[in-house]
Amino acid sequence: MIDRETVDRILDTADIVDVVSDFVSLRRRGANFIGLCPFHDEKTPSFSVSPAKQICHCFGCGKGGSPVNFIMEHEQMSYAEALRYLAKKYNIEIHEKELTSEEKAAQTERESMLVINDFAAQYFEDQLHNTQEGKDIGLSYFYERGFNDATIKKFRLGYSPENSKAFYTAATQQGYNKQNLFNVGLCIKDNRGGGFDRFHGRVMFPVMNIAGKIIAFGGRTLKKTKEVAKYFNSPESTVYVKNRELYGLFQAKRAIVKEDKCFLVEGYTDVISMHQAGIENVVASSGTSLTEGQIRAIHRFTTNVTVLYDGDSAGIKASLRGIDMLLAEGLSIKVLLLPEGEDPDSFARTHSASELKQFIKENEADFISFKTKILLEGTEHDPSKRAAVIGDVVKSISVIPDAIARSVYAKECSIQLGISEDVLLREIKKNIARNKEEAFKRREREKNREARRQALQPSPLSPGISTPPPPVVEPPTSEVLPMGNEEPPIIDAPFDDSLDYYPEGDTTTVPQPVDDPSKFTPQTEINKESIFYKSELGIMRNVVKYGMCYLCGTLDDNGDQQPTTVLEYINSEFLLDNIELSNHAFNNTFKVSLEYINDFYKELAVFESRERSTLEAQFKRAQSTIDPVGMNAEAIKKKENDLLKGFQTEMDNNIAEFRKNYLEKKLCSHPNDEVRHTALKMISEKHQLSKIYSVEGFEKSIEERLNIIIPEAINNLKNAILTYNILLVQQQIPYAQGKQAQELLERLQELYQTRKELALVIGERVVNPRLKN
Ligand SMILES: [Zn+2]
Repeated sequence: MIDRETVDRILDTADIVDVVSDFVSLRRRGANFIGLCPFHDEKTPSFSVSPAKQICHCFGCGKGGSPVNFIMEHEQMSYAEALRYLAKKYNIEIHEKELTSEEKAAQTERESMLVINDFAAQYFEDQLHNTQEGKDIGLSYFYERGFNDATIKKFRLGYSPENSKAFYTAATQQGYNKQNLFNVGLCIKDNRGGGFDRFHGRVMFPVMNIAGKIIAFGGRTLKKTKEVAKYFNSPESTVYVKNRELYGLFQAKRAIVKEDKCFLVEGYTDVISMHQAGIENVVASSGTSLTEGQIRAIHRFTTNVTVLYDGDSAGIKASLRGIDMLLAEGLSIKVLLLPEGEDPDSFARTHSASELKQFIKENEADFISFKTKILLEGTEHDPSKRAAVIGDVVKSISVIPDAIARSVYAKECSIQLGISEDVLLREIKKNIARNKEEAFKRREREKNREARRQALQPSPLSPGISTPPPPVVEPPTSEVLPMGNEEPPIIDAPFDDSLDYYPEGDTTTVPQPVDDPSKFTPQTEINKESIFYKSELGIMRNVVKYGMCYLCGTLDDNGDQQPTTVLEYINSEFLLDNIELSNHAFNNTFKVSLEYINDFYKELAVFESRERSTLEAQFKRAQSTIDPVGMNAEAIKKKENDLLKGFQTEMDNNIAEFRKNYLEKKLCSHPNDEVRHTALKMISEKHQLSKIYSVEGFEKSIEERLNIIIPEAINNLKNAILTYNILLVQQQIPYAQGKQAQELLERLQELYQTRKELALVIGERVVNPRLKN
């Protein structure tokens, strides 16, 4: 929604050192700054900030990036939220893009609801702290529970007065729209055209979304009567979708990332007490059973979840089912059973932080073993109940996506259940097959629905209907050389099938000879990704890091020399040979880079003219300081020339720096996640330079050697393409006959020959010598 000009202004203004310094204490080391990484625990600093490149990077955990990336990661914000944060920091006025009237209406409703909620939270806080009733009833209750003032403030706890019109009157007097008060659920319509407060006479727990905006309230009555529910919650609304929110996530997110772990409890007070006891990575499902939306919210931050259970086991069995969803999502689940009669709230209140941590460490148990143990209780002499338990445990293990984890569990549980591992494994496999079939049927149903929906659309190929991009392939982060020398990445399949099997009816496809080799489809898929990855990575690294650097001069139609950038050169080579990058993320990033060329030249022209006037001013100032006494005209001229040369070198360096930083800065802050991630990976690889290249000043010589490096990178890619084509032909040959076989062999010879010729020029070819500008 922020317009592009504003985005550019924010990106240009935000300074990485300044932005990071708000959270990390930095000290200077050489041209860079270092500090303790805010994203992982460490004792010696490995978090480095480069003012020249305007990026930060942790050599321990690999996190970092542009100012925007840093804020996104550190504050767990979206791209737009991070931009707004930076705009606020630098007092940049945000110009919003024009919205359609529909968007406007939706946004206005949403925003006014959030504004009302914020007003209500302030009102309830004010009532709690500044009225006699609030202090006597609300505040004394919180103190009784052991909450201190800092905690009360952190969670913005409040009090809604007994008078059932108090808030309604205050809000309407402030001019808040009645209908919105009803919509957001704070007030309820009465039958005389007015309204009253839903939460009157209750202590208030505001529920915040992940960005810290108040989207709902929970209210607890302090009356001992049984007629009213102990807790009330806001009804669902435009801003509050219950099954997506977790209480405490806003306050917990940073700690969850840092500890790489999330504690799951049930109620508001459990969360608050644990926070106060020093354990901040804790969220509550607020009484409802866990939903997929909530699980995904946790998964954004960690894969390790520990569920806390009260000492009395009544509720445990009921909640076991919900945990299977966590397992299916690929999370690793542990369980912590509190001592009899304790809940997380009471336990946290009566123990110190270190006692709490010690207890967790000693008593955390693996979920599946825990479940098996609980279910087995009292089934010793009942075979049918025992069989049911086995079925239940098998179900849990079957949903775990990771095959290795499944087999480990099968082994452990076979001992616990007293049955053979083989039997258990067989049951698990059957279950997986069944789950798969169900998933398949579900997908088919969805597909049919989708097909029907699409049939109603004007044209399925019309632009604007986009398919979701394939998953980004993360380049390896191990030590790498500046040129593509890495192994291809191991691509994790989202669902590991290695334990699945179909005992019956499984027909292995036998390659059949084909009549027409052109219709041939390879039986074993050639791993395209691994053939191309290395060389495509080499190309992309050069594009991101040196894309706008000056490479060589070409002649235009008039015979004038035109400066060419690395990016333009690579693009022209691609166009000549019809090359397209096979990796989606790389290709996408490359296309986006091309879109920046025009802007780049415009901005470069402005930058150069500014540099030139600086140079002239500098030179004039310096000229006036030359003392002509005792110097002849020639000596003065020489002195002037020396000065001028010095300033010119400085100007050239500044311009080269501008070129070098231009594209990586744009790409690292690009709104598209895939582009941004790709660019970041390229510039923040661990050990950017291997030892042989770490000699002082090599960085610069890379830029001077671009006329060798770039053609080499292109030739590497061409070589990969030839290799791929050779493999394709080799696969076809055994199935071709007669003339076709002969043709294929000839084609193969041709490919071999081309590859041989290419091999000779790899490392030799140089783009035409640099033309000095
Ligand atoms: Zn780190």
